[in-house]
Amino acid sequence: MEFRDLKVQYLNNKKTFDNSIEKVLLDTHFIGGEEVNILETKLKQYVGSKYCITCGNGTDALLLALMAWNIGEGDAVFVPDFTFFSSAEVIPWVGATPIFVDVDETSYNISVDRLETEISKVLRDTDLIPKVIIGVDLFGRGADFKQIRRIAEKYKMFILEDGAQGFGGSTGKQKNCSFGDISTTSFFPAKPLGCYGDGGALFTNNDEWADKIYSLKVHGKGYDKYDNVRIGMNSRLDTIQAAVLIEKMNLLDNEIEKCEGNAKIYSELLNGAIVRPQLSSEDRSAWAQYTIQVPVNKSRDKLIELLKKNEIPSAVYYRKPIHKQKAMDKYYTNSQKYPVTESLCQSCLSLPMHAYLGYSDIENVCDTINSFVANAR
Ligand SMILES: *Cc1c(COP(=O)(O)O)cnc(C)c1O
Repeated sequence: MEFRDLKVQYLNNKKTFDNSIEKVLLDTHFIGGEEVNILETKLKQYVGSKYCITCGNGTDALLLALMAWNIGEGDAVFVPDFTFFSSAEVIPWVGATPIFVDVDETSYNISVDRLETEISKVLRDTDLIPKVIIGVDLFGRGADFKQIRRIAEKYKMFILEDGAQGFGGSTGKQKNCSFGDISTTSFFPAKPLGCYGDGGALFTNNDEWADKIYSLKVHGKGYDKYDNVRIGMNSRLDTIQAAVLIEKMNLLDNEIEKCEGNAKIYSELLNGAIVRPQLSSEDRSAWAQYTIQVPVNKSRDKLIELLKKNEIPSAVYYRKPIHKQKAMDKYYTNSQKYPVTESLCQSCLSLPMHAYLGYSDIENVCDTINSFVANAR
């Protein structure tokens, strides 16, 4: 059983992928080939945004957004404490100050109550200017952008949606990656929409920011890349990756539907003592992860060991809150402020989840976990 089965996905569609990669090899437009434009059009239509701009990876996408808004020294950027490091890493990169915010205990996404408290505190206690809220679609589920939007408008802040794990999911009738003033995603192979290397994209409806991002990702170009009007970077999605993604877009909705079915089976078969993902019926996760909480009085590491013995892969996302990462020492604040994140870091466990899991695989995982929970009582 694979944690995320990229091999079966490839083998089931081998001819299609091979042909589209071969076409790029024969065209030899490895950078900036026509597939990149075709993909950007497909992506923006899917999400429902005016612009899609591809780039080198999901981390660059976040960075490009902050650069497009001129975020820098003296600015406060709010980010959930429970996320992949990238979401927060880009903030000091541009010279701004990250403010970590605890998450909601049901959605695992940024807590809007805590967010407002933290913004008020920054305004009261520091000279920093609150500029950006980063909402992360953790494990595939959209953050609470309705409330985030309300807060952003109140304090005149930008919303950056980190949809690296959320692409393909939706909240209400709206697709993830359409909720930010700028939204981003990652095409890292294991993400809901992954390529065969690194890749990323930004989405926005704003003409001025889109123009600026197009320039920033190509050395701050003016009329071409030998005319440089601002300090930029080199961040491109190469043509082979675009060709792969065009084909994967055709599989995406069906794969997510299958993941949805698998999530249902998991939730039915798992012992009731285990906390399972709880989504409202109007929302669709992209199922980047199926994450449970191991009851706090049981040892998660022992369960991981038992699963391994039964040849079942699992993963812990995430073991450490962002505020406890050594690289963030400088921004360390009172760890009492993050009880939900601290607890999730102790209890969360992600199980195999992909479109190619069979019923008997899921049954096997659930039997193993259920017996562990019963025996460890
Ligand atoms: C994977 C991920 C990123 C970064 O994407 P890369 O393409 O690996 O740079 C950013 N944020 C979150 C939440 C992620 O899961």
